[in-house]
Amino acid sequence: MRILLMGPPGAGKGTQAAKIAEHFGIPHISTGDIFRAAINSGSELGRKLKQFLDAGKLVPDEVTIAVVRERLEQPDCENGFLLDGFPRTIPQAEALDQILREMGTELDIVLNISVAPEIIVQRLSGRRICRNCGATYHVKFQPPKHPGVCDRCGGKLYQRSDDNEETVKERLDVYTKQTAPLLDYYRKRGLLTQVDGNQSIDQVWSEIERTLRSIKK
Ligand code: ADP
Ligand code: ADP
Ligand code: ZN
Repeated sequence: MRILLMGPPGAGKGTQAAKIAEHFGIPHISTGDIFRAAINSGSELGRKLKQFLDAGKLVPDEVTIAVVRERLEQPDCENGFLLDGFPRTIPQAEALDQILREMGTELDIVLNISVAPEIIVQRLSGRRICRNCGATYHVKFQPPKHPGVCDRCGGKLYQRSDDNEETVKERLDVYTKQTAPLLDYYRKRGLLTQVDGNQSIDQVWSEIERTLRSIKK
């Protein structure tokens, strides 16, 4: 299956993507995760990327598209993939169409997780990430067994530097202006399915699992 997962920051894309990838055995491709890994590696590219992420601005399309193209060309994507957080602009969506055309394939479905604005802020302010394996937690909604420690690997949890009030505001603004228009792009092509993200993690998952099972190829 070739799946695209959309939704505003904090909608629960990463949380659900991990479940989808495991359940359906496809690679989870998150541009945010790829960028954070580059930043942590301390490379020259990482240094440039950090400025965009810290400001809550989008990384330029050229850089983002090149990163995704390279990832989709890896052999593990041949039988399907899950894109999380890409595309975020119309030019990125057009580039994705082109890449998939060249690969002789196309998207099966676009899932949009929609969430009320006041919920988004609660989710982002309590989000914690494992420094070691990248697993996502929430201090209230998805707490680890031991505070500050990853259940899966024992790694230390941290708060993303862009999950502060000011940067969240900017990211939501960027989402409304640059990413939300993509919903129409995919709706017109009959690919868009809405998912109610204002539910518990398990309820959202069961809605997604049911939808994907019904289109499974
Ligand atoms: P969120 O969990 O808020 O949706 P992500 O981890 O997906 O955040 O993205 C974090 C940051 O990485 C974004 O604010 C942006 O700076 C950058 N980024 C991620 N994906 C893209 C993309 N497709 N295009 C441009 N920038 C991106
Ligand atoms: P995104 O990738 O869309 O930015 P995440 O998956 O990182 O979102 O989720 C944001 C935060 O909200 C995380 O701390 C996560 O544990 C929590 N979360 C995700 N889905 C739900 C949900 N349905 N109910 C409550 N909290 C959630
Ligand atoms: Zn971990």
